[in-house]
Amino acid sequence: AVSGEEGSYRTTCCYCGVGCGIRVHRDKSGKLSVEGDPAYPVNRGMLCSKGMNLHYTAMDRSDRLLYPQYRNDRAAPFSRISWEQAMHTAAGTFREIIAEHGPDAVGFYVSGQCLTEEYYLVNKLVKGFIGSNNIDTNSRLCMSSAVSAYKMALGEDSVPGCYEDIELADTFLIAGANPAWCHPILFRRIEAHKEKNHAVKLIVVDPRRTQTAAVADLHLQIMPGTDIVLYHALARGLIENGFVDEPFIREHTEGFAELKEHVMQRSLQEAAAICGIRFTDIYKAVKYIGFSGGFISLWAMGLNQSVVGVGKNLALINLSLITGKIGKPGSGPFSLTGQPNAMGGREAGGMATLLPAHRDMSNPAHRQEVARYWGVSSLPGTPGLTATEMFTALKAGRMKAIWIIGTNPMVSIPDLSLAEAAMQEAAFVVVQDMSSRADTVSHAHLVLPAATWLEKEGTMTNSERRISYLSRVADPPGEALPDTEILLRFAQAMGWEKHFSYDSVADIYSEHAGLTRDTRIDISGLSHERLKKSSFQWPVPGEADPGTPRLFTDYRFYHPGGKARIHAVPDENLSEPVTEACPLVLTTGRIRDQWHTMTRSGKVNKLKQHIPHPFLEMHPADAAKRNIRDGDPVVVSNARGCVQVTAQLTDRIKKGVVFLPMHWGKLAGSSLARANNLTPNLVDPVSKEPDFKFSAVEVALY
Ligand code: SF4
Repeated sequence: AVSGEEGSYRTTCCYCGVGCGIRVHRDKSGKLSVEGDPAYPVNRGMLCSKGMNLHYTAMDRSDRLLYPQYRNDRAAPFSRISWEQAMHTAAGTFREIIAEHGPDAVGFYVSGQCLTEEYYLVNKLVKGFIGSNNIDTNSRLCMSSAVSAYKMALGEDSVPGCYEDIELADTFLIAGANPAWCHPILFRRIEAHKEKNHAVKLIVVDPRRTQTAAVADLHLQIMPGTDIVLYHALARGLIENGFVDEPFIREHTEGFAELKEHVMQRSLQEAAAICGIRFTDIYKAVKYIGFSGGFISLWAMGLNQSVVGVGKNLALINLSLITGKIGKPGSGPFSLTGQPNAMGGREAGGMATLLPAHRDMSNPAHRQEVARYWGVSSLPGTPGLTATEMFTALKAGRMKAIWIIGTNPMVSIPDLSLAEAAMQEAAFVVVQDMSSRADTVSHAHLVLPAATWLEKEGTMTNSERRISYLSRVADPPGEALPDTEILLRFAQAMGWEKHFSYDSVADIYSEHAGLTRDTRIDISGLSHERLKKSSFQWPVPGEADPGTPRLFTDYRFYHPGGKARIHAVPDENLSEPVTEACPLVLTTGRIRDQWHTMTRSGKVNKLKQHIPHPFLEMHPADAAKRNIRDGDPVVVSNARGCVQVTAQLTDRIKKGVVFLPMHWGKLAGSSLARANNLTPNLVDPVSKEPDFKFSAVEVALY
């Protein structure tokens, strides 16, 4: 049981970017129960297995961090300290490091789990007052390639469509995503639409025959890294077969001639051979897209988490632009957000390369607007260190202190041996988290216990730009505090209380909303009061404004001149090459019932039953060459490290490719289950998103 007021509360699921509405009931004894909110437009009462079991994660507090803890030396045990001592220590150490090494010697690494108000505060604190842009988030690992591509193609990081478009579309192309497991409620809507309308077509692009691919009309089981070749081939097929919208291209886009010239250089047959699929299947996909009235592409980490992630995104977005299937009901390129509030974080500018409300960091006028709003003289104009760069900088001694909020990089960041060595080099590590089981806690000097879902209020924005309010239902355990409160106490300890003085979380939201005024994501018409009654899709510029389900309905894009840009991107894959020693391509991903590093979902017995142990998915032909049988213990290795798991043989995966789930860390009893022991510290040069989907490995019997 948890303490708090008895009653029924509205909130939003804290797992994925679908953003399902939930009703939480709290009885007299403090027992919690959850149900899908039948009135919520996203999920209409439905919840997936993770959402349905959320109350167990809230009620089981056996792992919770209950009070601040500190140790001077990481070889020593932690001692319990007061919040006052904790803030005194944090502020004192940060001040010393900044005085000696400058503001860029410290950094904050936060999470797409953070609420928008938390993002807003930490961003203001770091960029406005510490004077560094070293604030990045695990959203960098998730969808920064989509953000960069939207900006390059459409002029701004703006998802054009909405979930209502699902029921209006004729053809879906799902690429590098398994929404049947990872965005289940959204996929349920696609399935229901398809069940009712037999003409609706589903194309899935994935090296694995996932649950999503299993219900597709066409599964293009490509080799990892060949995505751009495929999308260029589809573009060529659409052009050659007269499926492009020439008036739309002429009036509303630029760059088509370059794309046409580029894609004509390779035949569909050649492309099919490179991708490892049938030529006739490419042609079939061209027809499905070409003959559709409404065409939606949906994608997630399979495209984003790549050293050429931005190129993959741009090549896919091209298909919507050349067919004119954007800004219309039932059409548009739709990036599926992983984390629940990755989009809210970007609205607040909570990344090393962004400013609030999609302002441009390189634009002095934009920096000045924000500086004036925050009451400071200027903001730094050089992009800060991104997620993986922070660990490299710690290792090299360029960064001395890191403050980690609500994320567990010692499982989720690539090349973990490098990241662990980096953490050991750090002079000061603060971990602000709810769970003592987060692997990162063991690297901390200072541990701050944070409140979690249901224990704090605030807002989030889902994949369709929908902003929702999350209620506080229960009191946090022990001395745990909401993240906003911790950040405000730190600001006060640093001497900045005049600029961080708020009566409520609603006040923080109003300040954030005020900074969006007259921008393209203007939400100045929103307040906590309004959001407690309903959810809204941005922009919402006025207090009577109902919100904006679809963008670009006038075909005016956000580049100067109003035209969208078609990009003829190179199609070579720049991932690390396979070699004789490491001939297999490792791709990593998620399973249905676990979430990220399992600190929350790993507590629920019902969720553990689906897939209780980590495994390696491998094609029987690759296994036979290595005398591996189904269920054998295997070691997956490369120069960076190794993983020991059980082999699961299946022809659902393409030959030459192996798959590991990314969830397991020390919770599996050993750091040898961590998929990121093997992944490289290689990033897309534009988005800085790591390449989790292509590591060269070898597999052997253990
Ligand atoms: Fe939560 Fe996503 Fe499942 Fe909805 S689909 S209940 S948001 S995990």
